Amino acid sequence: MARQTVVLGAGMVGVSIAWHLQKRGHSVTLVDRRQPGRETSFGNAGIIQREAVRPYPFPRDMKTILSVLPNKRVDIRYRPAGMVNAASPLFSYWHNSSARRYQKIVPEYASLIQLCLEGHGPMIEAAGANHLVQRKGWLEIYRTPKKLSKRVKEAEEARDLYGVQFAVLDRAALSEKEPDIGSDIIGAIHWLDPWTVADPGGLVEAYANSFTQQGGRILQADIKGVKQDKERWQVEMATDTLEADEVVVALGPWSGDWMKSLGYHFPTFVKRGYHMHYATQPDAKLHYWVMDAEVGYLLAPMNAGVRLTTGAELDRLDSPSHEQQLGAAESVARTIFPLGERRDPSAWKGARPCLPDMKPVIGPAPRHPGLWLAFGHGHQGFTLGPATGQLLADMIEGKPTAIDMAPFRADRF
Ligand SMILES: Cc1cc2nc3c(=O)[nH]c(=O)nc-3n(C[C@H](O)[C@H](O)[C@H](O)COP(=O)(O)OP(=O)(O)OC[C@H]3O[C@@H](n4cnc5c(N)ncnc54)[C@H](O)[C@@H]3O)c2cc1C
Repeated sequence: MARQTVVLGAGMVGVSIAWHLQKRGHSVTLVDRRQPGRETSFGNAGIIQREAVRPYPFPRDMKTILSVLPNKRVDIRYRPAGMVNAASPLFSYWHNSSARRYQKIVPEYASLIQLCLEGHGPMIEAAGANHLVQRKGWLEIYRTPKKLSKRVKEAEEARDLYGVQFAVLDRAALSEKEPDIGSDIIGAIHWLDPWTVADPGGLVEAYANSFTQQGGRILQADIKGVKQDKERWQVEMATDTLEADEVVVALGPWSGDWMKSLGYHFPTFVKRGYHMHYATQPDAKLHYWVMDAEVGYLLAPMNAGVRLTTGAELDRLDSPSHEQQLGAAESVARTIFPLGERRDPSAWKGARPCLPDMKPVIGPAPRHPGLWLAFGHGHQGFTLGPATGQLLADMIEGKPTAIDMAPFRADRF
């Protein structure tokens, strides 16, 4: 009889795991209180980031830290209550961002990122979702020659070590690609490998439909808890209980709190982010996903309009929205691209699920046979969902994995 597996959480990560296990003949039920892809995996910037081989470290130089303190920067904001709440994981994040520790983390993280395109490719095909995906890379734009050349050096290293492809654009070459970008911008890095998605939630939904076409089942329910009874698992929902041989926790930013009920205390924290859609002024057009790198926000020409996504806000997962960071990004964005009126009544808010060593947990729960974990994908969970699905399915089946999974073990915390 087929192994019965219940996957908790239908974001990009959970849907991808469910898809892989179902394809291998498991009998999979995917449970989420919402429709698939309606939370963090809905509102992100939609880039499948093959270039992101270096995770975001905590700033360590005094100049940057002092510039963050007045809480006026566009790329990063904080709330004192959020900082107090996450003080211990944030301190550990800072610690792991020292040059020595960070140097060890980068190749581990890169090993995962390098699988991202081959992870998404077959799922896009199976889901018939090519119409949502562009394969022409994205642009990181710069205002000062000094910052651009520093970034070019990093790009060269990423190319030499991890096969990342890029082109450097001067102002003329940039104007050919994006004629409506303002004159403050002096050039860009064109990351050539990444793919971009015009409706990130729509892609997760397409993957979820592909999963049900293979025979998978989706249940919309609030998960109350899980219990292990001998070899079997029971998943308790508001009105029903599911039985399973294996349970996978892929609850994104809710995973850390949720795992406490099983006695695990993962040092999770969140970096919140916002988005808003805009019309464009008549005759203006944005052709590429564009990040204003020295300021710290991104413009993405999506199906719903030009989506502006913000950098990080350090606050508690469930505290109310503060739209000032979005407002600040919008003011700058209007100086470099002719945005039109806002299209949404209020800003979307989401939370990047983070761990202090910048890597996700992917693998078995240390003290519960049959319980598997996949969360903490931070800034790149949309990128890494399919690779995570493939790797975790291999682990569950006891097969060799494409990369060494030791750096992602749960028992490192
Ligand atoms: C502004 C912004 C921009 C970003 N841009 C990018 C990008 O360009 N590229 C990239 O790779 N990543 C990006 N990210 C990060 C990416 O969005 C996340 O890492 C990713 O979506 C996490 O996916 P997930 O499946 O782990 O979590 P989620 O998508 O949040 O899924 C978790 C699911 O668990 C469900 N759930 C939680 N608790 C319960 C419960 N008790 N019962 C039932 N269901 C429950 C939720 O409803 C949710 O559907 C961005 C993030 C933000 C905020």
